[in-house]
Amino acid sequence: MPIKYCSHCGATTRQLIPNGDQKLRHVCSHCETVHYINPKIITGSLIEHDDKILLCQRAIEPQYGKWTLPAGFMENNETCLQGAIRETREEANAELQQPELYSVYDIPHISQVYMIYKAKLDSLNFSPGVESIDVRLFGREEIPWQELAFSVIRETLITYFNDKDAGHYPLHTGVITPEMKDLLRHKPEGI
Ligand SMILES: [Zn+2]
Repeated sequence: MPIKYCSHCGATTRQLIPNGDQKLRHVCSHCETVHYINPKIITGSLIEHDDKILLCQRAIEPQYGKWTLPAGFMENNETCLQGAIRETREEANAELQQPELYSVYDIPHISQVYMIYKAKLDSLNFSPGVESIDVRLFGREEIPWQELAFSVIRETLITYFNDKDAGHYPLHTGVITPEMKDLLRHKPEGI
């Protein structure tokens, strides 16, 4: 998304490479403020309960009606964990118990980073928030693989079930590429 107007003085911006920089930036034509556009962090949770996983059905675009882990954009002045707790409350009215950072996925082609915390469910009193149509616990055999919203969610769930088989859950890092989208409507093998 281009930045058309300066947020400091309201004048129009133009694109140029500032002195000492290597990239095109949006620079105010009046006060010369450089408006940087940087990657966004998405923080969320993978919640277990009795061999099941909590998924939310999206009530918003993109991917309306598809299933995802509770997650959203980190806000200013909060920690990553606070963001995951907040997003889980907003989307699923659920509370995290014993949250631990589980995965960090870079998605460079859309300039996003996903941070997912693994946690236990505090109580069964969860319900859809305004951004969710439905919130449900899914057993391994019930995961709606063909109806998942994003490649990063698919990768996170595959990693989780592999860890579950191995019996331990180390911190994972990975990179999501555009080609992975082709796998999104397919059930993964061996899961
Ligand atoms: Zn300006």
